Amino acid sequence: MGRAFVYVILGGGVAAGYAALEFVRLGISHGELCIISEETVAPYERPALSKGFLLPEDPARLPSFHTCVGANEERLTPKWYREHGIELVLGTKVKSADVRRKTLLTATGETISYKILIIATGARALKIEEFGVRGSDAENVCYLRNLADASRLVDVMHSCTGGNAVVIGGGYIGMECTAALVKHRIKVTWVFPEKHCMGRLFTPKIAAFYEDYYKSRGVNFIKGTVLASFENDSGGKVTAVVLKDGRRLPADMVVVGIGIRANTGLFEGQLNIEKGGIKVNGRMQTSNSSVYAVGDVAAFPVKLFGNDIRRLEHVDSARKTAKHAVAAIMAPQKTGDLDYLPFFYSRVFTLSWQFYGDNVGEVAHYGDFSSGRFGAYWVDRDRMVGAFLESGSREEYEAIAEAVRLKVTVKDMTQLERDGLEFAFQI
Ligand code: FAD
Ligand code: NDP
Repeated sequence: MGRAFVYVILGGGVAAGYAALEFVRLGISHGELCIISEETVAPYERPALSKGFLLPEDPARLPSFHTCVGANEERLTPKWYREHGIELVLGTKVKSADVRRKTLLTATGETISYKILIIATGARALKIEEFGVRGSDAENVCYLRNLADASRLVDVMHSCTGGNAVVIGGGYIGMECTAALVKHRIKVTWVFPEKHCMGRLFTPKIAAFYEDYYKSRGVNFIKGTVLASFENDSGGKVTAVVLKDGRRLPADMVVVGIGIRANTGLFEGQLNIEKGGIKVNGRMQTSNSSVYAVGDVAAFPVKLFGNDIRRLEHVDSARKTAKHAVAAIMAPQKTGDLDYLPFFYSRVFTLSWQFYGDNVGEVAHYGDFSSGRFGAYWVDRDRMVGAFLESGSREEYEAIAEAVRLKVTVKDMTQLERDGLEFAFQI
């Protein structure tokens, strides 16, 4: 049993949706493109799962957040794919790939062949078992990567109103889920190994602002330790979390966000792998010229950082690498190497920040941390390489992004601190 397509996108997440829209814009014919996804729904904006989807009132539900609404583009419903003659093969896992033969074998036993493949398999959440702790399968232990996880998290939250949650992991999932739990009137203890939250991006000063805000909303912090084990009731439900430092925290539910691994497994030994991802060139092409990789799974050269190979786990990069790959496939003569400015953001409670570039070098903080109107610049070898801003306007975010894109020269860090946002507007 088998089908053949000109273009196949493996994975049906954010990057797949944006790639599909670009294929249609650049003019594919009906029947040429197929998207294969383990998920049972058409591509959607994954960031909604830890934000609008978790709201206690008027939560976001599909079809409202199908791609590409996150970039203010068309919303691609299953009907849109049908109308454009794009085959959506949903609820179907690909279990092996052969890039030499240009075939994919699905778990249902079908062989799907392609002329050009775009790998958009994203990533999977790391499980506590990978750190030697058991208990992920308890009904009140939640992870958050896909729609099924998010629906389960909502059900568990509804059964825990007024109760206690323990959130494990100090990154994005920890930060956004803690905010959602508080909104559901669940008391949260947030546990992570680092000295402060968002340790890979925030400076201690930036983290202190958000931690103080979270404390004002009743969140309890336990830092510098990790999960050791769970205590369970006779039905297997977790009743308490035991930490490495010996503390025991009663828990009605647990949320785990301890990072991800890119889904490279199908291609290991067939394509070059670097930085935990599938290595591509500036046109998103892998070491096999018929295969492209985009989104969380791709490790690509970032021009702005001297073509250093980076794997970025953020939605803007998924959208832009996907569009770029399609442009390189459909209009190769007109498409050069991607010139990408890394962009991360988050929204929690009434707070909202954006970050552009890289967080290396010296840091200049500016603004008023007590009122929540503040930011920071990162300067490496006299050039601005990164910029962060909380509660900015569109013009302000554009200004700091431009300062990083231009890598403006900075000679005086004290003056930069004093100038703050004005510095970006003076460029
Ligand atoms: P994904 O969107 O993960 O899609 C991968 C797809 O491939 C999935 O559909 C998966 O089922 C499928 N797949 C994988 N393997 C197979 C296989 N073998 N066979 C068939 N199908 C397969 N980023 C931000 O910048 N801002 C945010 O606010 C933000 N919020 C987030 C909130 C949550 C809860 C999560 C989980 C992530 C968030 N991110 C955010 C990160 C962002 O969503 C990802 O960077 C983005 O989804 C990556 O897109 P992708 O298409 O590469 O992978
Ligand atoms: P992150 O990588 O952001 O954070 C993982 C956190 O878990 C870090 O604090 C890490 O510490 C900690 N950790 C690692 N191992 C352990 C362990 N054994 N026990 C306890 N803590 C541990 O991953 P998340 O899970 O928070 O997010 C998953 C993905 O979702 C990421 O790709 C992220 O980009 C994406 N996402 C993005 C959002 C956004 O951009 N707004 C929102 C939600 C998700 P250490 O740093 O020391 O390893």
